[in-house]
Parts: sequence; C-alpha cells; structure tokens
Amino acid sequence: MIPPTFDYLRPTTLDEALRMLPDAGEDAKVLAGGQSLMPLLRLRLAYPDALVDLDRVDELRAIRDDGDAIVIGATATHHQVMHDPLVREHAPLVARATATVADPAVRHRGTFGGSLAHADPAGDLPAVALALDAVMLARSASGGDREIPARDFFVDWMTTALEPDELLTGVRVPKLGAGWGFHYEKFHRTAQAWAIVGVACAVRRVQGAVEDVRIGLTNMGATPVRATAVEERLGGSTLSDGTLREASAYAGEGTEPPSDLHGSSEYRSHLVQVLTRRALNAASAR
Ligand SMILES: Cc1cc2nc3c(=O)[nH]c(=O)nc-3n(C[C@H](O)[C@H](O)[C@H](O)COP(=O)(O)OP(=O)(O)OC[C@H]3O[C@@H](n4cnc5c(N)ncnc54)[C@H](O)[C@@H]3O)c2cc1C
Repeated sequence: MIPPTFDYLRPTTLDEALRMLPDAGEDAKVLAGGQSLMPLLRLRLAYPDALVDLDRVDELRAIRDDGDAIVIGATATHHQVMHDPLVREHAPLVARATATVADPAVRHRGTFGGSLAHADPAGDLPAVALALDAVMLARSASGGDREIPARDFFVDWMTTALEPDELLTGVRVPKLGAGWGFHYEKFHRTAQAWAIVGVACAVRRVQGAVEDVRIGLTNMGATPVRATAVEERLGGSTLSDGTLREASAYAGEGTEPPSDLHGSSEYRSHLVQVLTRRALNAASAR
C-alpha cells in the first residue's frame, strides 16, 4: 500500500533535529532505520504529519568508551553494533543478541536506538538492555538531557517513557568486567525470524558461586521483563544442574505472555523455563 502523505524533514545536526521535532506538529515522528516505521506507514497503521529523518545526523551514530560503561549512539546500526570492538569487548551480550536480529539487510538499516524506542515486546534488544541495567539518554529542546534507566523506559506495549518532543540520543551500557558469562537464547520457528521467546542473561561468579545474575525476557508480556524470581534463587549458588532446573521453573513467574499464531500463552510459559535453563548453562560455560 502507499503510505499517507507527510512532510519530510532531514536535519544534519542533533540541535536542528531537536528544534524540528516539536515544530513539525503533535503527530510528527522520528525516522531512524525505517525498518519498523515504514511498514507501519505502508499498512496505514500510523499517520504521522511529518517525519524527522535522523539519517544525516552523524553525531548520533558513534559508539564510545565512557569509563565504566560504553555509550552506543542511537542510530548505530545493528550491523555496526555487532561488529564494534568496544561492544564486543565490554558488552558482548549486546553483540550476540544483535547478531540474532532479522537478516543482514535489516541489520544494515535498523538501528539500536530505533529498536529500543519502538519497544516491540518481541524485539530482542529491549530485554538485553533491561538485563544489563542500561540507561537511556534522552534529549529535548525544551527539557534538555534526561537519563532513563531501562527498568523505567519500557512502559507498556510499544510505549516508552520518551516524551513526544524527546529524542533517544544514545544508550549507556555498563561494562561487563572479568568473571561475567553471558548468553542470549532465542527461540524462533524459522531462521532470522522474530523471537517466540528469548532469554538474555549475564552471570558473574566468584570462586564458583553466583555473585550477580541478571535475566531479561523477550516476548513474555507487553514489555520486556526481568526474571527476578530466578535471579533471587540463584544468588550464592554454584549453578549445579539441580539448582538450575529448580530455579528456571520460576522463569514465568509474574509474566503475562501473549497468545498468538506462533504459540499459546501456556506454551510460552513452558518454553521460557527451558530457554532460561539453556541460557544460564551457556552463560556459566563462558
Ligand atoms: C523483516 C524484519 C524482521 C525483523 N526481525 C527482527 C528481529 O528478529 N528482532 C528484532 O529485535 N527486530 C527485528 N526487526 C526490527 C528491526 O530490529 C528494526 O530495526 C527496529 O525495530 C527499529 O529500528 P529502526 O532504526 O528501523 O527504527 P524506525 O523503524 O525508524 O523507528 C521505529 C520507531 O522508533 C522511533 N524512533 C527511532 N529512533 C528514535 C530515536 N532516536 N529517538 C526517538 N524515537 C525513535 C520511531 O519514531 C518509530 O516510532 C525486524 C524488522 C524487519 C523489517
């Protein structure tokens, strides 16, 4: 289908983009890689008055070292993120999960920030951001800079804490230092498809015992969720087979998985237990 008509604005600096967004009207939308927004326009599921295209705003694309964290620019593409040396060294879970997103064509256009701002519960990266306690960096012309922890960012189904005139400029991801293992376990029916369920986990052990563990779940509710019941049960344990099995049985606690043509809610509740065990096993082997 042909999208509805809209004004098209193409800033070349962040300041210009921030000024254009409120001026373009209440229903203006930011365009990043267009991999989610353009299909919505073509299906006429979205009717923005204007699109503010970030493609020429180079300052949003960089990935940089920020002491005990790295900052991934909002418009860094999935391809860029998964090959970036800083990401691979300090946030390998991000690199691994990003490599499972769609196919090379989508990964060359789709952006890290776009995936988080779109907040699709089936998207792989929101659960990863949540598991890693990432912090969203937002900016608007009226309010200046704002930092939003991932746990407060995903508010509801495809809804974030971003204000209409706010841009996601980057994401601060704490570095995983020595002793951390990580894994992203994604279950999909065909290669390069969306997750039916996904589990992102990072585990730090000291002398064999779990010192810290974070688990984020994909497609187990309207927003990504932390498997806190599992995390609590694993603290101090040695991740033996028995403990893993026992703790993973709580992976679905507090979740509200959807039922759709790919699987029922009950199926997802079972699947998440199996995937959590697999993810923890793989993470602890790293
Ligand atoms: C065939 C196909 C398969 C896919 N498979 C997967 C998959 O397996 N896993 C997965 O995770 N994703 C998948 N995706 C989605 C892909 O990851 C997209 O890149 C992502 O969802 C959106 O990123 P984008 O840069 O294209 O954003 P856009 O489509 O440009 O924008 C999406 C939304 O985010 C907003 N937005 C974008 N950037 C910003 C910003 N900086 N500040 C504020 N708001 C912003 C836009 O206004 C819009 O509402 C798939 C997409 C396609 C087309």
